[in-house]
Parts: sequence; C-alpha cells; structure tokens
Amino acid sequence: MSTQSIKNEILEERKKQVSRGYDGDHDSKEHPTGQLALAAVSVMYGLSGGEPNWVQSICDQHAANPRKRLIIGVAMLEAEIDRIIAGIERLDKIKAEVIKRCPFCNKPCEMRVYDSCFVECNNCLTKGPPCATREQALIAWNTRFETTALKTDSRRRKKVNCAK
Ligand SMILES: [Zn+2]
Repeated sequence: MSTQSIKNEILEERKKQVSRGYDGDHDSKEHPTGQLALAAVSVMYGLSGGEPNWVQSICDQHAANPRKRLIIGVAMLEAEIDRIIAGIERLDKIKAEVIKRCPFCNKPCEMRVYDSCFVECNNCLTKGPPCATREQALIAWNTRFETTALKTDSRRRKKVNCAK
C-alpha cells in the first residue's frame, strides 16, 4: 500500500464526513474546544469508553478493522486542523473588530479569559455571558449590545407614545 493511496483514502474519508454534514461550520459550532482531536485519538485506538455516542458508534462499527479506524481518525485530525486554522482566521478578523462599549455606562470593556471567556465593563463591571471561546464571547457581547440598545430605543419610543 503506497503512501499516495493512503493519502487518497484519508481524503476520501474526509470528503465522506463533509458530505454527511460534518463540515467546517459543524465542527466550529459543535466541537469548538478540541473535542475533535480527542475523539480522533479515541477512534484511532478504539477507545470507546466514556466517549460521546458518535465516537463509540464509530469504534463499534470498525472494531475489527484498526486500519479503517486509523484512516477515519486521521481524517478527523485534518478536520480539527481546518477548524483551528479557520478559527485563527476568524479571530484575526475579529481583532480588527472592536469590543463595543458598555450598553449601561458607555465605558470601554475588555475580554477576560479564565475557565471561560467573557467581556467585562472596566467601569461598572457588567459582564457578558461566559463562553467557550473569545470569539463566541465577543459575538455574544456585541450582539447583546445591539439587543440592549434596541430595547432602550423601543422603551424610549414607548415613553414618547405614552406622553401623547
Ligand atoms: Zn459599564
């Protein structure tokens, strides 16, 4: 079995995964923090204990075929690399985008990274929702800002209406 045909097999496996809907968007949404790499290793070694059902099902399906499990696992690792690179590219774009000011006091806010990521107002300490990634935290904060701003506007509009 030549290296080239193994590469082709991996490529075919990855194409199959994508055709089933496990594409970059799916991976970024459903496996944002490296679960795909761990799942790939589990599949490659046939370690199904304690894994999500879908990993267990791949291990069970190919229990007697370690070669096939390796091909699937490597294809999953490629998907993980694609996910990470896409994430870096998105993060670069986001860095260019500003963290919006606090919707309550209009002061600058910063990204905090602990067990989770969230945006916090430097002045009134209002926090955005805790998220798995900086990207999600930024989107949540900036979206929330827009929602809050809209709500404030509609309240203002209501007040005007009541005064009439
Ligand atoms: Zn504030």
